[in-house]
Formats: sequence, structure tokens, C-alpha cells
Amino acid sequence: MQEPPLHILNNIFGYSEFRGQQEEIVGSAINGEDCLVIMPTGGGKSLCYQIPALARKGMGIVVSPLIALMEDQVTTLQQLGINAAYLNSTLTREEKSNLAQAINHGDIDILYIAPERLLQSNTLNWLSTKDISLIAIDEAHCVSQWGHDFRADYLGLHQLKEVFPNTPRIALTATANQEHQNEIVDRLELSAPKRFVSSFDRPNIHYSVQPKKNARTQLIQFLKARRQQAGIVYCLSRKKVESTAEWLRKQGINALPYHAGLDTSIRADNLKVFLQEDAVVMVATIAFGMGIDKPDVRFVCHLDLPKSIEAYYQETGRAGRDGNPADAWMVYGLNDVVQLRQMVDQSNASEEHKRNERSKLDSLLGWCEVTNCRRTALLNYFGESVEANCGNCDTCTTPPPKWDATEPAQKLMSNIVRTGQRFGVVYNLEVLRGKKTDKVLQYGHEKLSTFGIGKDVPEDTWRSILRQLIVQGFISVDINNYGALQLTEKSRPILRGESQLFLRKDLKEDIEKKGYRKSSVSDNDRELWNALRQCRASLSQSLNIAPYQVFHDATLME
Ligand code: ADP
Ligand code: MG
Repeated sequence: MQEPPLHILNNIFGYSEFRGQQEEIVGSAINGEDCLVIMPTGGGKSLCYQIPALARKGMGIVVSPLIALMEDQVTTLQQLGINAAYLNSTLTREEKSNLAQAINHGDIDILYIAPERLLQSNTLNWLSTKDISLIAIDEAHCVSQWGHDFRADYLGLHQLKEVFPNTPRIALTATANQEHQNEIVDRLELSAPKRFVSSFDRPNIHYSVQPKKNARTQLIQFLKARRQQAGIVYCLSRKKVESTAEWLRKQGINALPYHAGLDTSIRADNLKVFLQEDAVVMVATIAFGMGIDKPDVRFVCHLDLPKSIEAYYQETGRAGRDGNPADAWMVYGLNDVVQLRQMVDQSNASEEHKRNERSKLDSLLGWCEVTNCRRTALLNYFGESVEANCGNCDTCTTPPPKWDATEPAQKLMSNIVRTGQRFGVVYNLEVLRGKKTDKVLQYGHEKLSTFGIGKDVPEDTWRSILRQLIVQGFISVDINNYGALQLTEKSRPILRGESQLFLRKDLKEDIEKKGYRKSSVSDNDRELWNALRQCRASLSQSLNIAPYQVFHDATLME
């Protein structure tokens, strides 16, 4: 007699009820149906295959792309008394043969395995003689060649359909819009799968993003209005975590620091206080969060920008797990952007990886800068087609002052078209701003009608226009083609003047203030100045005096 899923949930996993669509998903898999599960990170995808794997006869196979993920999950399952194991390259020959014996005896309930290992023909032949209860393909977006995490080995997983014709397969991921969903179904050759798409919406979270003026003052104002509440304040660096926590304590806030550089015992103590006492504010780096299940976190603040919308969503997702109102509050400034860009530029990652990181950062910025409903924009980013305003985020309750950027947007779009939709951000801006760089001359683009028509708009403003166009889906970035900018179906109404693009006014003023000196100088002037600067540097060196002493009027130079 099969054990009912709810019993397994209660007695083995120790949870009282299913979350969201878990029960339906588990039911379908137990019935032997193929399933596609799209659920946000932390939503509870693992139970969707672990429970049916236990409920059905035979061993469950879980395909997972990362060794660390496998080890993590297997340890957790073993602690619950489940016979779980993983098969990957870290096992010794002896461990492998022990595991093979256990599998032959039918002693393993759930086996985690890397795709390349599973697809070896001897592994497939061997496992095809066993009772397999279900096959789960975790992180299924890895099969998408257009995604950021493409894994060539995932492409071979369609063979499982033939090798295990009577075994249900369940593919799970946190990121997939409609197009990617179809791609996953096609490439894995799922048979008429049941689709379970959970919304990414967290209706009880109030989103708010402010331009950074004086971050500490802004933060303390926010915190003082939430005296009796627990929350998290994220900072980028360990140093900033410590100085912020200390400063908050001086302001009478019960704040504690948390980052990976602190002593293990201090970290454990601070975590305990945060979990057990009321109204503690944890100031932390992103080292704080994974696996922290405190339902009544009332706010998550970001004093620095996270590196992507995905990261932001995950970090703010720790607020309001209990369903009561909670805040996601962030301040951001152009300096943050510069800092994060530098971190990307200076890393040792491949050029392709860096391009991805930059474009993720740009998406986040674009989202910070939206003038329409912030929640809608967030959900759109995750592929949910929502149109209505939520009425609950900052841009809905206090619409920001806007300016009409339709005309510059049209200029930018027509430049993209005229240069053949083959170039990235930097080059498009060079042409628009009339720069006769080698590359521009090489393509003869100094003769285009769009050459130099964007001279009067500061570069940072162009970038923010561009981000909005990307975030709102008017322009797409072809990651596989060196980040070439291309127009989308949606862009026509803007080009024809039937629809308008609005940008935040506060941001424009901020840029213009900062960029004033830069934009008031022509390129000719700048060349001359650079020459002067070099001259000054060499003079100061040979005369052994400070550079500013070389010219009487040092301000001329800076
Ligand atoms: P995902 O793979 O979707 O990111 P996980 O499966 O790792 O999410 O689950 C995230 C967290 O939610 C885990 O700590 C898990 O134990 C918890 N969880 C999942 N389902 C339930 C449930 N029905 N009740 C309580 N907690 C749950
Ligand atoms: Mg998972």
C-alpha cells in the first residue's frame, strides 16, 4: 500500500502542510505524469520530487548540475533518515562500488547524479534494469542555450525518455519565461507535461527604491518608523557591515553585524539573537541568508546594490515569509554602479561571463529607474505578463517626477537600425555622440544621419535611456552576439511616436550635476587637455614637485 504524500510530508519531513502548488505537483508525479515546475527560489521545489520519489516504487533519480548542491541535499535527506546518495566524480572507487551494490540491492531511495555521469552508456544500461520511481531534472533551465547557465550535458537528457519509457520525469527551475518553458519541454522531450507555473509575486512585500542622498540618514529614518520590528540590512563589504552596525547601535537601534569574516562563534551568537529575540536588525553581507527561515522578518534593506534582479529578489524574498506586510527598501546611487562595474571589469572571469554580469547589473539599474509600477516591472522581468498597477509599491503610491525621453529614445533606436543592429552599447553611443573612433571610421558610420545627433545628451543619461528601453522590452540585448542591441516588436509604437517613454527626473538632475564638467567640454578640448595633463605629469616628475604646482591655475586641469 502506497504511503499518502501528506504522511510523508508530516512524518518524514516534519512539515504540517504543503506550500503553494506542491500538493498538486506531487499528486501528478505520483500518478506518473511528466511535469514542468516553475517556482521561485526558496519556493520548495525539492519536495515536489522527493515526496513522489519516496511514495512510488523504486529509486528516484535526481539530475543536478552542481556537486555542492547534491552534497547539500543528500546530507539533509540522510539526516531525516532517508537513504539518499550521490554519484559524482568526488567518490573514490571503493565508495562507488559500495554505492553500486546498495543500488543493486534496492537500498537507495533517492540518487543524485550529474548529467554527464548519468548519460554514460554503461550507467544508463545498468540503471535501466532497476526500478526507477521517477526522474527529476533540477535546474532545468541549464538545457536552454539562450540562458546564462547552459550546460551542454543537459542536452543529452532527452534520451531518458527512451531508456525509461514508463518513468515520469519532472523538470524544475526558478527561471523561465514562456519561451524558455517551451524550450525546456522540447529539448527534454517531456511527454504532454503538466505545467505548474507559480507566480513570483510576493503581494505582501512593499517595494521601494530611492536615489542615494545621505544613505545613513535615509536608513535611520526608515528604521525609526519600524522600532519594534526585525529586519536585515545588506551591505556590500564586511567593513561597511561593521561600521554600519556600530553606527546604528549608537543611534539606539539593536543592530548586530554578520559576515563570513567574523568568528564562527560570534556569527552563531548573532544569528541566535536574531532568531530568538524581537526587533533585532541584522546588518550583513550576502553571506547571511541561505537557509535562514525566520518568518517574521519585517524588512530587508539594501544600502548597496545587489548584483542582479535575481539576487535582489532572492534577498528581499526573506522578508514577510509569514504573509504579513513587509518592506523591501533600497537606496542606490551612480557611485554604486561604478563600483560594481569595476568589480566585474577587474575580475578574472571570461569576457563572456563579464558581459553577462554587466547586462544583469544593467537590468537591475533599469529596474531601479522605472517610472511605472515597480512590482509589475519585477514580474515582467521574470516573464509574467502583468499589466495592472499594484497600487502598493513606491512608484504607484508616490509616482516619481518624470521627463519625456521619447525623442532621444527615437534617436537611439534609429541609430541601432542604421548601424545594422550589430553593435553593443558602447559603439552605439560613440556614433550617437559623434565620436570619430577608429571603429566608427572603419565602418564609415561617421557618414550616417544619426552620427552626432546625441551630442548634447550626457553619456550617463543615454545609458539610463537605454536601460529603460531594455527593461521595458523595447530593445533586446543579444548575449550570444557580443551584446548587440536590437529592436523588438514592441519598439515600433515609440519609433512612430504613438507611444512615449518617460524617465525619472531626479535621476536626470543627478547625472547632469555630476556630469556637468564632463559634458561642457568638447572632444577637441578634451584631447588638448589630455595632452596638457601628460605634459604636466612629466614636468612635475622631472622638477620633482606636485602636479598642481606645475600650473598656476590648477583648477583648469581638473
Ligand atoms: P527551491 O529548490 O525551490 O529553491 P527548496 O526546495 O530548497 O526550494 O525549499 C526551500 C525551503 O523551504 C527549504 O528550507 C524547505 O525545507 C522549505 N519548505 C519547502 N516546502 C515546505 C513546506 N511545505 N512547509 C514548510 N517548509 C517548506
Ligand atoms: Mg532547488
